[in-house]
Amino acid sequence: MGPPGAGKGTQAKRIEKAHGFPQISTGDLLRQPDPSRPDLKAAVEKCLASGELVSDEIVNQLVDARLKRADCSGGFLLDGFPRTVEQARALDGMLSNAKRRIDRVVVIVAPADVLLERICGRRTDPVTGELYHLKSKPPPADIIDRLTHRDDDVPDVVATRLAEYQSKTAPLIDFYRQRDLVTEIDGNQSMEAVSAAVDKVLS
Ligand code: AMP
Repeated sequence: MGPPGAGKGTQAKRIEKAHGFPQISTGDLLRQPDPSRPDLKAAVEKCLASGELVSDEIVNQLVDARLKRADCSGGFLLDGFPRTVEQARALDGMLSNAKRRIDRVVVIVAPADVLLERICGRRTDPVTGELYHLKSKPPPADIIDRLTHRDDDVPDVVATRLAEYQSKTAPLIDFYRQRDLVTEIDGNQSMEAVSAAVDKVLS
């Protein structure tokens, strides 16, 4: 868990590579429209464009289907889900049906100005999926032309995403703290330092 720009995606991708757990990012799932559900397309696109959360019902269905796939049988890493208490309750139901449990909730925190700076400079390589930052992790010159910038990584939309995080997602930290599952990590340090802190939790 953590606000947009905290480094969840970067860490999740790294853990996926190092440990083989699939990274299940609801943001990524929502950005790839489900061809079998054309009825959901407009509602999802509207939320992605504005920075508001997609409805719990839609997101819970997506995650439920994703967790039933074979690659999750040895464990998985949720990135950006749950984001509301309602989603956390739905996740409890999915996990209890599958006789599984949450091992740890890692929360990465960073101040709002740092998040905004990181998000606005963020670029993705569509070929490799690698994330870059124009200042702190500059991409190689030969791939610059093919990099993409997410439509919601712009100041107005980021402001809504941060407000959604504060009002709907931050309260979840207490929900999991009451179960003694939370480890908080300072995301306002070098990527290597954040990675080391995350690895300590995993080990
Ligand atoms: P992300 O890639 O995690 O930054 O998510 C991008 C956007 O997808 C968010 O701003 C929301 O509109 C939507 N989204 C991602 N995950 C969720 C979720 N768990 N619940 C509701 N909306 C979500």
